[in-house]
Amino acid sequence: MASLSSVNLLAFLACATILNHGTAKHRNATVLVLGGGISGIAAAKTLSDLGIKDFIILEGTDRIGGRMRKMTFHNTTIELGANWIQGVKGNPIETLALKCGLQGKLENRSFVIRNESGFKTTEKGKMSLLKHDEDIIDKMQITRRKLKYEDISARVGLRIANWLPSNPEEMATEYFEYDFEYAVPPKYVSLRTKIAVNGTIHSVGGEQLFVTDSRGYVHIVNCLAGMFLEPRDSRLQLNTKVKEVKWNTNGVYVTSDNGDVYTADYALVTFSIGVLKSGLIQFTPELPNWKLEAIFKLNMVIYTKIFVKFPSKFWDDEEYILYASKRRGYYSMMQNLEADSRLPKGTNILLITVTGEESIRLEYQTNEQTKQEIMEVLRSMYGTSIPDPIDIYYPRWGLDKFFFGSWANLPIGISSDDYVKLQKPVGHVFFSGEATDELYNGYVHGGYLTGVNQAEKIAHCIQTGSCDN
Ligand SMILES: Cc1cc2nc3c(=O)[nH]c(=O)nc-3n(C[C@H](O)[C@H](O)[C@H](O)COP(=O)(O)OP(=O)(O)OC[C@H]3O[C@@H](n4cnc5c(N)ncnc54)[C@H](O)[C@@H]3O)c2cc1C
Repeated sequence: MASLSSVNLLAFLACATILNHGTAKHRNATVLVLGGGISGIAAAKTLSDLGIKDFIILEGTDRIGGRMRKMTFHNTTIELGANWIQGVKGNPIETLALKCGLQGKLENRSFVIRNESGFKTTEKGKMSLLKHDEDIIDKMQITRRKLKYEDISARVGLRIANWLPSNPEEMATEYFEYDFEYAVPPKYVSLRTKIAVNGTIHSVGGEQLFVTDSRGYVHIVNCLAGMFLEPRDSRLQLNTKVKEVKWNTNGVYVTSDNGDVYTADYALVTFSIGVLKSGLIQFTPELPNWKLEAIFKLNMVIYTKIFVKFPSKFWDDEEYILYASKRRGYYSMMQNLEADSRLPKGTNILLITVTGEESIRLEYQTNEQTKQEIMEVLRSMYGTSIPDPIDIYYPRWGLDKFFFGSWANLPIGISSDDYVKLQKPVGHVFFSGEATDELYNGYVHGGYLTGVNQAEKIAHCIQTGSCDN
């Protein structure tokens, strides 16, 4: 196989010199891994395990982990991104968590619903009825998949199963089961990609583990990196923002925004669909239409976690507190982080999750405006004597140029062919990341598994000289 280092490198280097007036830093490797989230780190680890040690990871921020991101908020570790191991049965992330000693608690999903006047109206939410109807649509999903029926939305499935929310409590229950999981209402959830039950379609299942580790969920990414990278390993380049990927069937030539040049025989792109859609990365030549179609079909959704620190706790003891508002998703999901001793008593941080359209609205308003809205809601629920918060914080995932959203939502009608296209390499550029996984898109394990799979394919190409993609 023609190797970049042997054939095209001189041409690429000449080009780099012209572009950067001789000042460009240049490095060459066998593989470039673009992005240091779970997918990129899992891919580099796989390459290393398969004997390919000559790789460079290019990460635009000053840390690895991507959408697995922690912060210290009033002496407490809070998770701004991923928080759950979504199904501990058959999940490679659970295996990794055990190996790395990650701390967490199984979810108990106890909940209470309060209405706009503060009364407890949990029964009106009819959770058991929704669960029953969901069992029906899960069976429907399995049959439809087997028979290769056309995809429908979860809303259509729920209607067939006889569920339609008729009061704010039922809407809050539905929000808990759908928007809180998918960041969009059921009309935007593809029944084909909705999480299936009992591992009938998916091999990952079981209970969910809520990570409570003070090192953050990102500890597993750091732990994974520690298995194959040395401290200050020059194969991990932080603060290196990829700007252009030139590609052909012999190799790749990547430029960072400060003009540095990286050449390699292969590259693996692990960026979010939001980044790929943003146009911030220039592919030269442009990606082919079949690839662009698959990318542009997907939309990033926004899932916002708002942390509010109070001088004392005044909210209910259940794990989840649902606010039955007439306006869907208007601060409807609150989480008591002290339930089951997830965080120590006296932490006094209330976690409020907002999704979809409400998240977009919140991204553009100040913390102070959001705090005022939240306090109005909390005072209607718990009375006017509750204390003012000490502090509030929430990330703007949609505006963040390294992500442009929280995860990719798959449209109704997405097919296996679309996934084949999402994963298929162009020239020597491969693609991985949560959005490219047909079964586990949107999840940490989706990012991990695609990183491992694509790295294995690259290794196969390198070691056999043949890429039968
Ligand atoms: C708020 C929120 C809550 C979530 N909750 C859960 C949960 O509870 N459980 C779960 O399983 N999943 C959850 N997820 C989803 C999960 O975090 C992601 O699916 C997973 O982390 C994606 O990993 P990835 O490696 O595919 O992508 P990323 O983590 O996005 O990694 C890509 C990397 O590329 C880097 N990058 C981007 N642009 C450039 C550039 N130009 N140059 C160089 N580097 C660049 C980024 O900085 C990033 O580090 C959540 C996500 C969010 C945001």
